Amino acid sequence: MRTSEIHRRWLDFFAKKDHQIVPSTSLVSSDPSILFTIAGMVPFIPYIVGTEKAPWPRAASVQKCIRTNDIDNVGRTTRHGTFFQMAGNFSFGDYFKTGAIDYSWEFLTSSQEDGGLGFDPERLWFTVWEEDEESYRHAIDVIGLDPERVVRLPRDQIFWDTGQPGPAGPCGEWHYDRGPEHGPDAVTGTVPEWPGDEKAEDRYIEVWNLVFDQYMRGEGKGKDYPLLGELDQKSIDTGLGVERVAYLLQGKQNMYEIDQIFPVIEKAQELSGRAYGAQEEDDVHLRIIGDHVRSALMLVADGVRPGNEGRGYVLRRLIRRAVRSMRLLGYTEPSMPALLPISKSLMVESYPELEADFGRISEIVYGEEEAFRRTLETGTAIFDQVAKDAKKDGGRVLPGEDAFRLHDTYGFPIDLTMEMAAEVGLQVDADAFRSAMQEQRERARADAAAKKSGHTDTGLYNRLLAERGGEVPFLGYTESTVAT
Ligand code: ATP
Ligand code: MG
Ligand code: MG
Ligand code: MG
Repeated sequence: MRTSEIHRRWLDFFAKKDHQIVPSTSLVSSDPSILFTIAGMVPFIPYIVGTEKAPWPRAASVQKCIRTNDIDNVGRTTRHGTFFQMAGNFSFGDYFKTGAIDYSWEFLTSSQEDGGLGFDPERLWFTVWEEDEESYRHAIDVIGLDPERVVRLPRDQIFWDTGQPGPAGPCGEWHYDRGPEHGPDAVTGTVPEWPGDEKAEDRYIEVWNLVFDQYMRGEGKGKDYPLLGELDQKSIDTGLGVERVAYLLQGKQNMYEIDQIFPVIEKAQELSGRAYGAQEEDDVHLRIIGDHVRSALMLVADGVRPGNEGRGYVLRRLIRRAVRSMRLLGYTEPSMPALLPISKSLMVESYPELEADFGRISEIVYGEEEAFRRTLETGTAIFDQVAKDAKKDGGRVLPGEDAFRLHDTYGFPIDLTMEMAAEVGLQVDADAFRSAMQEQRERARADAAAKKSGHTDTGLYNRLLAERGGEVPFLGYTESTVAT
């Protein structure tokens, strides 16, 4: 089943169950405290915490999400993308636990002819909070799950809250067992920590998280807080990973092999001449390329531009990591003009607005690749020299001052330096790097103060002049002179 089909089925299923269908909001979160929309519930937060009254008792959406905290997982686990689509159904004071569990079971297991996903019920596992008797009994007595496949977990593993006093509640999570060839068995006790064990989690894939927003919580650190009583208005907030379902239903090994991503990987194979499936490290790069190209496409479509901080920096990092992965596969020509149009053609069915906007989107992405290519040319040569010096006499540390110089003068992002250092067995002296950054900030502040008082800021000009052999025209303190 194609990914766009899962998307459509979700909306059809919940529309039939009287849910208001709400379009995805932008990846640029409306909540200023977070950079990106990280979950389907983000646009509904006011209705869930009760600061606003929901306009409808039930709603459903397929929300575009970005999770930067998963960036290092991309290509290494089978199930983490930086961009992904979270399908959610929501109840604001309407149906609660048993209703949510019933809908989820029906959608997961009813046949594809009947509009469901057609998962084999014998392969589904359900995890609940150990004190949530109602969900536990419902899963066994009403749904009819084998008690062996209903796992009770302590609060620190399966409880949702906002990190402060307010609403909180236990979750119920659906997992799909990919089978013994993907890891040890949870029943025989070979994985006592499950879930929570990375390997086991790539066998028992979490596909759907149901949050039962039931209690008012008090003050406390982490998950250590008192439950003060039941909420007057209880809510349901769920999230199903569309890409995870897609990879399981498409019989693939991971989410980067699905129809919305894999053709980009195929193109990257063709360009680089490296075959997917031959070498694990190459595969990781190919998956990173497939994932990051798509994330960049969707971020630029939602108005983000590459930059040196905040959202822009995340976008810059994604594009640069994709370009660098291509280089590590041995392909040094510009690659975005070959890869991005493929990603667009795969996403356009679910997001038709990409078509008309693609001229603008591609110009931004290609421009960033060009800028990075210029940066890399100079920076890599310097890095190699610095790394060679650092490794003399068996050294294992790359000095923070050198990492700072690469960053400050050559626009080399610190995470890139750290990655490249790790690849040659070196560790960046992060403390020294941080204090160099701090000094620079103080200098910049002093410069700005001097500027205000009428002095000409020639500091930057002189520095650039010295570094680039005197060929730099004076452009003043603009971004184009300090960063690429
Ligand atoms: P995991 O434990 O696998 O990291 P999670 O518990 O962080 O997942 P939730 O926050 O519960 O995920 O999000 C709801 C659903 O969204 C998950 O059950 C999963 O199907 C999907 N999901 C979460 N993170 C990602 C991601 N990075 N890429 C793809 N799908 C994701
Ligand atoms: Mg996670
Ligand atoms: Mg989880
Ligand atoms: Mg979860």
